[in-house]
Amino acid sequence: MTSEVQQNEGTLFIVPTPIGNLEDITLRSLRILKEVDLIAAEDTRHTKRLLNHFDIDTPLMSYYREKEVKRSEEILRRLQDGQDIALVSDAGTPGISDPGAIVVKLLHENGLTVVPLPGPSALTTALSSSGMTSSGFLFLGFLPSKKGQRRKLLTSLSTSEYPIVLYESPHRIDSLLGDALKIFGERQCFWARELTKNFEDLQHGTLSSLLAKSQEGRNRGEFVVIIWPGVQEEVQGQTVEELILWYRDNSDLSLKDVSRRLASDLGISRSQIYQQALALWKKED
Ligand code: SAM
Repeated sequence: MTSEVQQNEGTLFIVPTPIGNLEDITLRSLRILKEVDLIAAEDTRHTKRLLNHFDIDTPLMSYYREKEVKRSEEILRRLQDGQDIALVSDAGTPGISDPGAIVVKLLHENGLTVVPLPGPSALTTALSSSGMTSSGFLFLGFLPSKKGQRRKLLTSLSTSEYPIVLYESPHRIDSLLGDALKIFGERQCFWARELTKNFEDLQHGTLSSLLAKSQEGRNRGEFVVIIWPGVQEEVQGQTVEELILWYRDNSDLSLKDVSRRLASDLGISRSQIYQQALALWKKED
């Protein structure tokens, strides 16, 4: 029994684990992992390496997506028998685009105690580094891997007024950014790659500039991607000059992005618009 909750039935502790840097595990997480009777892990071999690093020899059971329902029932029984259990995933916070929600729901339904520990998550780590100033965001985890479903979902999000936050793997980042560009048009975007690791990489840009970067083909590591909402107001202006001035005064787009957008909307050369926009931007300074 852990020193945290004293009762006849056991407690399920939700324990976040590092998303790269092992120093990010909390003291409380380490203590709970040592004190519980059992650790339910998404991949026991993966978690064993973490436990070995911290000299923890608590027994493990596997709790993975395909067996979530069955293993949840087993966890319920063990808790009812008085065992304390920690739930971990491979990295980050269980239940956030990871197995966990099914057992937690079952335990709430059966009146058992669930204790969540705060700790690493790619979501919060990326958000804190993004400079996002809006008060809300839309987190969707992974988009569907099937192209049709992914595009359908992106289309339904095109009028969202909130930044969209997504998880993505290295081999699908090109398709995600490519589809988003096709469906949303140019937008501001951010990626946080390899968070907390040696090659941590934070990049702001437009969808097209980050797509170009990802197509360079050095996309090792996992990504969190944030796509900002499009300009909501209706663009006002008849002449190119009026349009440039409208974007300058009413959007957060850079001079380069305004030129790119107008060039594509009006079907004229980007460098021509860029020169004109540069002159107008300068006049303002
Ligand atoms: N539950 C985890 C959490 O709270 O962070 C997320 C698990 S989900 C299966 C894995 C995804 O999280 C990766 O594909 C990537 O999108 C994101 N992720 C995990 N570790 C990351 C890291 N070090 N840097 C950037 N993204 C990461």
